[in-house]
Amino acid sequence: MTTLSFEFFPTQTEEGTSRVLAVRDELAAFNPEFFSVTYGAGGSTRGRTFSMVEAIQQRGIAAAPHLSCVGDSTADLRDLLQRYQALGINRIVTLRGDLPSGSGLASSELRYANELVEFIRKETGDHFTLEVAAYPEMHPQASSFEKDLENFVRKVKAGADSAITQYFFNADSYFHFVDRVRAMGVDIPIIPGIMPITNYSKLARFSDSCGAEIPRWIRKQLEAYGDDSDSIVKFGEEVVTDMCRRLLDGGAPGLHFYTLNQAKPSLAVWKNLI
Ligand code: FAD
Repeated sequence: MTTLSFEFFPTQTEEGTSRVLAVRDELAAFNPEFFSVTYGAGGSTRGRTFSMVEAIQQRGIAAAPHLSCVGDSTADLRDLLQRYQALGINRIVTLRGDLPSGSGLASSELRYANELVEFIRKETGDHFTLEVAAYPEMHPQASSFEKDLENFVRKVKAGADSAITQYFFNADSYFHFVDRVRAMGVDIPIIPGIMPITNYSKLARFSDSCGAEIPRWIRKQLEAYGDDSDSIVKFGEEVVTDMCRRLLDGGAPGLHFYTLNQAKPSLAVWKNLI
């Protein structure tokens, strides 16, 4: 069975939240396993993430909060875990997070995602299904590809149940990553994270910062479209659909869409696949 999930980010206003809930309702027709909501490292969106998770959970399909450890105290994390348990949440996307300046890592009580996985297991046993992040093209701060694989394996051994990847536009990087960690004894599902292409300049900026590569043949065509956003969307849909088809045909257990709080781009791809 192919699993499907969608990711949102918390909005600043009530109006924004209403819009996300309307998007959620449109996506719910495709029966995803869960909707996840991102978390600002250091607790910057703590209240807003919680409110959106609560609103989504109340509408019927499970909500999965993201939770990051860098810059958050264990007391705050414990409190949040208890509140999520009380809300009936049973899945958490478990992360280190990125503080804006990269500062705060040394002084943080928990410094890496494996420590947060251990902390949640210690506090709540097997209550939560824990997702962790995976980087087929290597985490941008990793000292080497090998070290990054070892660090990924460490958080799986700490108790992760499943992984969601950073987005990529090169299916081979996913297959290579999966082969490598399988050879290291990892047997949890590794779900590709999918970023629909809708806006080239924003995508290029974001990809630079998170270490996701836009292959030259895609970049050059997107650049050539300039302001012609219809062509960018059409080409992006084709490229991402083809990649998703390859991923699923090659054994990927499901897809996790980075929706950027919009229904249409993710649904366009998903509808091409079903
Ligand atoms: P880790 O697994 O801790 O890895 C971070 C870096 O440290 C890597 O280079 C790794 O190789 C290295 N490392 C790991 N463990 C150790 C160790 N024990 N000792 C030494 N080095 C180690 N960010 C947010 O702020 N909020 C979100 O909601 C959010 N959601 C995300 C969802 C997904 C699916 C993904 C893929 C990323 C998300 N991010 C989010 C971004 C993520 O927080 C950053 O990429 C962050 O830099 C790393 O997080 P991580 O959990 O992968 O960290």
